[in-house]
Amino acid sequence: MYNNGEVREVRVAQFAGMCYGVRQAMGQINDLLSDNVPAYYAHKLIHNDLVIRKLEARGLTYLPNASEPVSCGQAYFIGSAHGLGCFSREKYQKMGFSVFSTTCSRVLEFQRTAQDLLRRGYDLVILGDAEHREIEALREYLERIKEVEGLGSSYSVIADPEDALSLTSLSKKVAIVGQTTTVRFKFEQAVHHLQSMSYEIKVVSTLCSSVEKRVEAAKAMAQKVSVMVVVGSLSISRNTKGLYEAILPFCSKVVAVECANDLQPDDFASLHSIGVTAGASVDEETLREVVERLKTI
Ligand code: SF4
Repeated sequence: MYNNGEVREVRVAQFAGMCYGVRQAMGQINDLLSDNVPAYYAHKLIHNDLVIRKLEARGLTYLPNASEPVSCGQAYFIGSAHGLGCFSREKYQKMGFSVFSTTCSRVLEFQRTAQDLLRRGYDLVILGDAEHREIEALREYLERIKEVEGLGSSYSVIADPEDALSLTSLSKKVAIVGQTTTVRFKFEQAVHHLQSMSYEIKVVSTLCSSVEKRVEAAKAMAQKVSVMVVVGSLSISRNTKGLYEAILPFCSKVVAVECANDLQPDDFASLHSIGVTAGASVDEETLREVVERLKTI
């Protein structure tokens, strides 16, 4: 019951919260921390600062702009679930770390596909966030291929589908891939724009099915409730932002929060039916706290 004594219905959409890749990475990191060996990270392991703080409380240490070798004994460097580039791996190995990758298998497949297309002579268009670890890591591999194998083909990273319209000097052989957390309608828009420019495009779907299932379940729920709550960070989590944007057309009210403390009672006054979904980096504890607070707020 909430404050006027009525019963409020709070339903959680299917597939809300941590995806299998992030869940697996968390398990691996927690196992490593149990070894009591110093463990460091430098890039966002996952896009959820609350979860990172919990790992830091267990001993994980942030290593800002590291350049000095580790001075004594064994130490782990843990790579992000979104990827660890070849240059980064070598840098931390040279510094004396035991480098441990937690890269999700779906991201590895995306990286392999993109490298393969570049090697086969395609000018590669990548729809994604150039500053996201997944794309930064991929760029390291693509740069190495161009450097070592001397390939003439190019690659371009575009943040939004509309940016494809500015790619006016691609060769005849063009392929497009999307960062794994890209929502499908945006990927299809980018393909459409390239086709409208008379390019013959090889379209390779590298999008993550976990993201797609979460979006579809949230959209279905959004049509049956008065308000949808999206848990996750809109500013740093690409899949959370995509989830939020995808359900906006399907519900008259969508509220985004990172945790239960962000919930504002006024947003839910007189609303009896609430749907909840959550991005791929949101842990069960945070999701449960949001649901519990929504029942009483
Ligand atoms: S969203 Fe998909 S690709 Fe990204 S970590 Fe999760 S399972 Fe892997």
